[in-house]
Amino acid sequence: MTDHPAPLLERYRALIARDDETFPISLGEGGTPLIHAVRLGAELGLDNLYLKFEGTNPTGSFKDRGMVLAVNRAVAAGARAVVCASTGNTSASAAAYAAAAGLPCHVILPAGKVARGKLAQALAAGARLIMVDGNFDAALNAVRRLGEDGLAVVVNSVNPDRLAGQQTGAFEVVDALGRSPDALALPVGNAGNISAYWQGFNAYLDADRTPGGGLPRMLGFQAEGAAPIVRGEAVEEPETVATAIRIGNPASWELAVAARDRSGGLIEAVSDDEILDAQRIIVRLEGVFCEPASAAGVAGVRRLVADGRLERQMTVVCVLTGHGLKDPDAVQAEEGSLTPIAPELDAIRREMGL
Ligand SMILES: *Cc1c(COP(=O)(O)O)cnc(C)c1O
Repeated sequence: MTDHPAPLLERYRALIARDDETFPISLGEGGTPLIHAVRLGAELGLDNLYLKFEGTNPTGSFKDRGMVLAVNRAVAAGARAVVCASTGNTSASAAAYAAAAGLPCHVILPAGKVARGKLAQALAAGARLIMVDGNFDAALNAVRRLGEDGLAVVVNSVNPDRLAGQQTGAFEVVDALGRSPDALALPVGNAGNISAYWQGFNAYLDADRTPGGGLPRMLGFQAEGAAPIVRGEAVEEPETVATAIRIGNPASWELAVAARDRSGGLIEAVSDDEILDAQRIIVRLEGVFCEPASAAGVAGVRRLVADGRLERQMTVVCVLTGHGLKDPDAVQAEEGSLTPIAPELDAIRREMGL
């Protein structure tokens, strides 16, 4: 018989669970790898660069960490359905956990680009999709109203259970490193994840579970066309290739600013070109394929090292928030010759340049 690791919420029960709470629903979330990125680190100028690859979660993004807690609690509270506004990964995760719980899942999608893989996941799991002619903020407003009317439990990150569950990412980073990193970099969309990581690092420290003490600097990166926190005002029509962070008015804005300021960190903007470039070098140098939004942290760290704002010996963790297969259309790779040639060794060798 093989040993199965305890489900995520059981593993960190002391920091998350209420008295006697049980968590019957689990898809095996969390426990994602922390990869020492030696080749990527050399390219950027860091000796201790790590990638926390969240693409290995059950639905391929970190959203599962919070969704598992939100859906378990929705079930315990007698919910009839769950609902979310989503640009993609939230709907994929909500649909999966709702399916496992036997609950209907409704998704309000803002009009515009949606990553193909994410939509396929939600549809496959039986979610009911409604596209509205408005941006994400309009979709989220409608969802909040549905929640207030008691028609369904909202599982967006405005649900505090989502952030509570997402703290486990920080717990795992400290457990894997045996210490707190010097800095943690990640993309910022609705700003829930940067807030949850910061809460998590603090909770771990308070529980005396961080050897050596200490807290990381939080480094958040928005896309240039969707950078409300950087600009200090909401963006009416956010645009970026990184659809997961195409957010004009982040739900956790204040929490993110507090995390930035209390940690001595920063929130800056990176361009779509920098994001796509980072996505490419992460997979070319480390074999880790993440979606565009996920690469924003690496793009930002690259700039901070080049500027001398991060030093070579620092331990830096970049959270790669979602899997590259989510958004295959965003990959700008040369596919080589896809015109068939004769199945003859000489012709094939010539084509290979060998
Ligand atoms: C949701 C998401 C983000 C943004 O996280 P926030 O908590 O909204 O800031 C980044 N990357 C991916 C892949 C996501 O799914």
